[in-house]
Amino acid sequence: MTRSLEEPGQNSPVPQARVLLPPSRRSHIALGLTTAAAQGRFELQVCSSCGAVQYPPREACHRCLSVLLDWQFQDGGGELISETTLFHSHDEFFREHLPLRLGMVRLDSGPTAIVYLHGKVPPAPARVKVDARLDKAGRAVLVAFPGDDTKMADADPAGDSPLWEAGCGPHSRTVPPTGGTVGK
Ligand SMILES: [Zn+2]
Repeated sequence: MTRSLEEPGQNSPVPQARVLLPPSRRSHIALGLTTAAAQGRFELQVCSSCGAVQYPPREACHRCLSVLLDWQFQDGGGELISETTLFHSHDEFFREHLPLRLGMVRLDSGPTAIVYLHGKVPPAPARVKVDARLDKAGRAVLVAFPGDDTKMADADPAGDSPLWEAGCGPHSRTVPPTGGTVGK
């Protein structure tokens, strides 16, 4: 006699693996940041009326209230003006990754952002390069890498971290060969 496999129930002796994810709530507007990060780009809203660059994303320009906002590529250059190290968190995901180094970066384009700090970033004040990455929940997060080109190469910016991934862009990815055709 054979029995079909059943889903392990509440009384199953086999513990079910639980995957912890970072908090993923974002506004509808903030998904623009995620869309760009998934393609390997760091983009922020730029006001078509007054030229202001803004972060975090909003429905209207923080300077002139225009709603004509375009997502535009940012080179990410900025100054790390302060930093802190977290040794405690109420969030289960972050608790797994303590201590956690965070910094406040004044971007050359104007806005100031709270970002994750890559381990190779020197203590503040320091030049950094901010980039957008996807976290384990698939949402955009900002990460500061060393601003110095030699240290940047050493930092392996394409490498994954427990806190962020390289993104879904085509760089360093393998495209599997297929025998299919598109269209007729
Ligand atoms: Zn404006």
